[in-house]
Amino acid sequence: MNDTPRSSEDEEQDEVDLLALRPDINDQDVEVEVFDAVRVLSANPVTPVRLTGTDDFAFRCHKGVSCWNRCCHGADITMTPMDILRLSGRLGVRPAEFLAQYTVPAIFDKADLPVAKLKMAGDDGKGACPFVGDEGCGVYEDRPVTCRYYPLGMASVKMKDMDGLEDFFFLVKEPHCQGHADPQEMTVGAFRDQQGTIPYERVNRGWVDILMKMSSWKVLGGPGGKAPTQQTKRMFFMATTDVDAFRRFVFETKFLNTYEIDATSIEEIKTDDVALLQLGFDWLKTVLFNEPTILLKEQVLQSAIAKARTELGAS
Ligand code: SF4
Ligand code: SF4
Repeated sequence: MNDTPRSSEDEEQDEVDLLALRPDINDQDVEVEVFDAVRVLSANPVTPVRLTGTDDFAFRCHKGVSCWNRCCHGADITMTPMDILRLSGRLGVRPAEFLAQYTVPAIFDKADLPVAKLKMAGDDGKGACPFVGDEGCGVYEDRPVTCRYYPLGMASVKMKDMDGLEDFFFLVKEPHCQGHADPQEMTVGAFRDQQGTIPYERVNRGWVDILMKMSSWKVLGGPGGKAPTQQTKRMFFMATTDVDAFRRFVFETKFLNTYEIDATSIEEIKTDDVALLQLGFDWLKTVLFNEPTILLKEQVLQSAIAKARTELGAS
């Protein structure tokens, strides 16, 4: 403990020192594949072609192709937060039950964060998707966004001199997929409209932002040079996949006494799962990256400052 009285210059220096410990994620280009277009891992796909929204590509999938349903076996499908809400709603179960029955836990490697993947049949996971049938996808209107994108993948990039993220697309040709032989062309933008990806992307944006930042930090060795802790992983999984667990966390802990959440939003998140997801993303950005997405209540902030001062040895 340091007994020397501290000046405001000392306190400013503490802040500078703490900031210096934080890796500068704007100092590098980062690219993260959010929706992979490789469905059958052993398929040895042709090298992906990078596309923008206005580029054309030729593709059409229909029941007459000899490979019908092939891509719905052994598929590697990461469930986005919106996928989980839509599919559990369709099946008439809550997300926790959907997760337990239809998914397997996995790690999104680039960010070292936990996600859920759709569980394929078979001990080796190379069997059928639980939703595929002779007529094709049995949950077509609510199919996951990765299925909507196929045979495109989507990646998000953050160039070091850019403020926000930029998305780009890549076309992957897996040898078994006959859809590429069809001459029908359309732009990437028209394909996304046709497949209904945009409402999903709007809801999933905060999740993508967090994966991007954690991926950047992983490259740099993690915040303060450390990998995400088990607690960080648990928080991320709860807020982005299991909305009921996050709802209990919000309403049954000190959460609402800690953060400034207005009365209208509190009413909304009691029943609106999408609004609760957005709160979860904002909360994660606050606690993981210190972004001012939700604010601490004044008395909590003051007591946190007082505690930090004590720990730093300030009088
Ligand atoms: S959800 Fe539908 S489209 Fe996606 S793998 Fe399963 S059956 Fe195929
Ligand atoms: S054409 Fe491609 S997307 Fe369509 S069923 Fe065959 S493998 Fe799947």
